[in-house]
Amino acid sequence: MGVFTEDTGHEQVVFCQDKATGLRAIIGIYSTALGPALGGTRFYPYATEDEATHDLLELSRGMAYKNSLAGLDLGGGKAVIWGDPDQIKTEALLRAYGRFVHSLGGRYITACDVGTFVADMDIIARETTWVTGRSEQHGGAGDSSVLTAYGVFQGMRAATEHAWGTPSLKGRRVGVAGIGKVGRHLVKHLVDDGASVVATDISEKAMEWTRTHHPEVEWVDDTTKLITSELDIYAPCALGGALNDETVPVLNAKVVAGAANNQLAHPGIGKVLADRGIMYVPDYLVNAGGVIQVADEIDGFNFERAKLRVSKIYDTTRELLAKADGEGILPALAADRMAERRMAEVGRLRSIRV
Ligand code: NAD
Repeated sequence: MGVFTEDTGHEQVVFCQDKATGLRAIIGIYSTALGPALGGTRFYPYATEDEATHDLLELSRGMAYKNSLAGLDLGGGKAVIWGDPDQIKTEALLRAYGRFVHSLGGRYITACDVGTFVADMDIIARETTWVTGRSEQHGGAGDSSVLTAYGVFQGMRAATEHAWGTPSLKGRRVGVAGIGKVGRHLVKHLVDDGASVVATDISEKAMEWTRTHHPEVEWVDDTTKLITSELDIYAPCALGGALNDETVPVLNAKVVAGAANNQLAHPGIGKVLADRGIMYVPDYLVNAGGVIQVADEIDGFNFERAKLRVSKIYDTTRELLAKADGEGILPALAADRMAERRMAEVGRLRSIRV
């Protein structure tokens, strides 16, 4: 995949290498139209450099759209470290990476992603100030899944209002696939609001946690059983690609709103959902709570301020669903257009000399 030959639209892509520690990282800045490019660092054992680059380019572009739609004064970027974190992650490697992040002078701000954790951000922060997702002891926002789940819940409330006339989840049957960090917080919001929750996960531990903390939640063995049972809302909270050619034809829900990134296995699947009368609320809109949480660190973290901002996901989702209906377009396209418009309109203001 070539940045120039395929015209991916990225502003900057930086390859970073430190042979002594084994660091091989790529930092991708898709857009700084709205501010510094914020996005996490994925530490993953990609099979090839091409695969790592492809993932980087997709992820960094996605962050620009997510941050724009979330109303943040931040552009979009992402980084990947190529390698198995269990084998090569060391203090020295993370600090070497921190120095490369610092060398970009704040054009890119990093955070956690798959394979990187709060403790890693604390280490990276010893070499650069351009890092979020640090621990609370180090002035950070801590675990971002708290507000990610809260944002998903807010998006779900707006979709419920759009579909059934009231934002209350009371009496709605909601299927949650993936009872991990986000899924656990989400289940609590749903139960507290009076929803009837059915859940699944491949992990025994997740099942035990659910049985202990939420005995009222119905448990099913696998995702196929979950999505073929009668649901009002389906919340994919595990891995990407949950909505695909196998699952969508048998999905028995009116609304999809969940935390997982990249839920649509391919762009055409949005139309298949719409043809089946299923309202899909774009993942990057409803799961922005985590990035809003860590973005708040930049000005000194304040949980209540971040939560207030995440609660706006309710308003944005309402606006987006109304716009999609009004223009006769899919919510995913409406989301892309809203994000692009803000990048163009607000981004242009920086050309006014002050
Ligand atoms: P997690 O790893 O804590 O939880 C994921 C859960 O999904 C695990 O319990 C795992 O066992 C389960 N799972 C994996 N494969 C499954 C399958 N085939 N069927 C059922 N369950 C399965 O991750 P998380 O932090 O809770 O994130 C969940 C999703 O939300 C991910 O896609 C993540 O990218 C996305 N997301 C997370 C955040 C955040 O702040 N944590 C922010 C934005 C988006």
